[in-house]
Amino acid sequence: MAKLIDGKLYAEGLRKRIAIAVAELKRDHNLIPGLAVVLVGEDPASKVYVANKAKQTVEVGMNSWEHKMPADTSEADLLAMVQKLNDDPSVHGILVQMPVPKHIDSAKVLNTIDPAKDVDGFHVVNVGRLSTGQDALVACTPTGCVMLAKDTLGDLSGLNAVVIGRSNIVGKPVAQLLLTENCTVTIAHSRSKDLASIVRGADLVIAAVGRPEMVKGDWIKLGACVIDVGINRIERDGKNKLVGDCDFASCEAVAGSITPVPGGVGPMTIACLLHNTVKAAAAIKGVKLPEM
Ligand code: NAD
Repeated sequence: MAKLIDGKLYAEGLRKRIAIAVAELKRDHNLIPGLAVVLVGEDPASKVYVANKAKQTVEVGMNSWEHKMPADTSEADLLAMVQKLNDDPSVHGILVQMPVPKHIDSAKVLNTIDPAKDVDGFHVVNVGRLSTGQDALVACTPTGCVMLAKDTLGDLSGLNAVVIGRSNIVGKPVAQLLLTENCTVTIAHSRSKDLASIVRGADLVIAAVGRPEMVKGDWIKLGACVIDVGINRIERDGKNKLVGDCDFASCEAVAGSITPVPGGVGPMTIACLLHNTVKAAAAIKGVKLPEM
């Protein structure tokens, strides 16, 4: 039976360390890190994410601003909002909640954010810095995955890591981070042939597919570490349920360690966002980043 990787507990600990770092920045440098979140439209899931981000930002002692814009906001107005936040010295982190309405070019929006304030890590400059091994603001969910893997396995050097999914948000950046950790990285995706046999070679599996319970226990090498990024809402026995991309029961029977859904990777994302905001604030002010 696999060890359960408790992302909720790890994220709680990380938020406590972040709160201490925020207090130190306030005391030593009169610096209060601030995160501005922009939400365009009324997507119910996005509203919940944004509210959670704001709540946790305030809980660690940082400033939080929510900018709600109507669904018919023009691209020009959204870009103007981003520019205003770029120019505001009290704002150290800017996050435009994705997805934005279809009439807006999301890449243009992301690339308008000042890279120094790009706490989501999606600006091409930060993506480029990550892939060339330079200091970068790195996407939050991938950072959370690697934190949990390192906390569970220790040094990841030399491990065979298989990432399922090649999105810009999860798959590609998590693969880059694992490469930085000296893993041998395979990225599998919807066109990969014989996915099961690719996954069977993995010491570390990162599943970021968005397909409920797709990865089965007989794909998993005995003792492997399984990090399940998927968040899928399904109906089972007449009830709504959240499940991951891995079939938890069969994977748990074979894996050495596994993240549950919910309570695994999910809670890490906001904690890493707060972590990035503190990092951005210290860099912008030119002061030493406290230990977190
Ligand atoms: P996405 O749809 O952008 O990308 C999915 C990837 O999976 C694609 O690259 C595709 O090639 C691959 N894929 C699709 N079908 C496949 C198949 N049959 N076999 C192999 N590969 C296949 O999704 P995303 O944004 O990367 O998110 C992935 C999952 O992670 C979703 O369930 C999402 O909800 C979840 N997610 C969770 C968090 C979190 O905070 N925990 C954050 C972001 C995403």
